[in-house]
Amino acid sequence: MAFYALWRIAYANWPGVPNVKISRVEVFLVGREWNNLVIARVHTDNGLSGLGEGTMQWQARTVAAAIEHMASRYVIGASPFEIERLVQAMYRNEYARGGPVLNSAIAAIEFALWDICGKALGQPAYNLLGGKVHDTIPAYANGWFNAETGSDDIGAAARKVAASGYRGLKFDPFWGQGRDPDLADLRRGIEEIATVRDAVGPDMKIMIDGHGRFSVGTASHLAHALADLGVYWFEEPVDPENFIALGEVSRPRGLRIAVGERCYSRYQVPQLLAQGRPHVLQPDPIQVGGLLESKKIAALADSHYLPVSFHCPFGPISTAAVLQLNATTTNIVAQESFSAFDVSWRSALIRNCPMPSNGSYVVSDQPGLGGIELDEDVVREHPYREQAIQSMWSANGSTSALRPFEPSAADAA
Ligand SMILES: [Mg+2]
Repeated sequence: MAFYALWRIAYANWPGVPNVKISRVEVFLVGREWNNLVIARVHTDNGLSGLGEGTMQWQARTVAAAIEHMASRYVIGASPFEIERLVQAMYRNEYARGGPVLNSAIAAIEFALWDICGKALGQPAYNLLGGKVHDTIPAYANGWFNAETGSDDIGAAARKVAASGYRGLKFDPFWGQGRDPDLADLRRGIEEIATVRDAVGPDMKIMIDGHGRFSVGTASHLAHALADLGVYWFEEPVDPENFIALGEVSRPRGLRIAVGERCYSRYQVPQLLAQGRPHVLQPDPIQVGGLLESKKIAALADSHYLPVSFHCPFGPISTAAVLQLNATTTNIVAQESFSAFDVSWRSALIRNCPMPSNGSYVVSDQPGLGGIELDEDVVREHPYREQAIQSMWSANGSTSALRPFEPSAADAA
């Protein structure tokens, strides 16, 4: 008994043990030209802190408010090791559930808890998520080409991506189009893909993102053209809500259908798989509510012998988190990467910012999400931007209701 009492005292006072309590949650908004990063920093009463990210496309302040709401209602006073319980409480107890907004707030906190737990135990988060099955994660390039430049330039840009060591690249050559573009616009997009194929050769994976813009008929028409060009996957060919409509898009031989960045929980996945019949699932670890939920969705995909490719177009903290997740996931195919094509200060925003080298990420063995820490000077240099938003649509099928861009003082800086 005496030994047990001494052990309990020692255990309870060890700096990183599970009796630690969460004491405070901070939220930072960091402005980029096309969206604002949402960053959470969670503190514990023993002086540890962890970083999380809840960036959504264009609802930064809404997510920030949701993080503060979740923190005060569920998180402060809890143990950072109670991740499963806290996520369950934040998801179910809100009753109506918030889809991607509340999920992004949950993820911002959840990522930070993994960071804290890893730091507390001196272990990378992958060792708390089942252990590492990959030392390196193959990346595919996104954001490498500005759709407003001409097709003469896209070949050169694609060659540069290939020369950097990537074995895959993605783009949307139909940016700004609606559900049923003019045939001439479709032809121009197909010609851009052909230009890229000629530039990079037959072995580069080319992924085409439809951003859910097409009708079933136009998506089917395009699917055949993409298959002829050896496109690896056609992503979100139609809008994301109606899985039956997705299932009606043509499946020409050899073309994969990739979807899932707008499927927000594992409870929707069985229906998506049965009706939508995708070949690749792309859960977004932020918008499904964290690394645990993403791992559960990956397991559901694996039960159908499907790979996952986690959607990750946001900031460096989400990239750090998703790499820890990739490291523990058996059925990954390639990780989306904007890292080398983002703002110049991306790698200064956090210490140990992950960057791909020769087309792959090396998984960090540092504690938590890879030994990351926020540089608050960089945060202050890039304040929130109200007009950081992009419209992907034309008046053809989907109406853009955005006001013309008006630079704010921060935008102009
Ligand atoms: Mg996409």
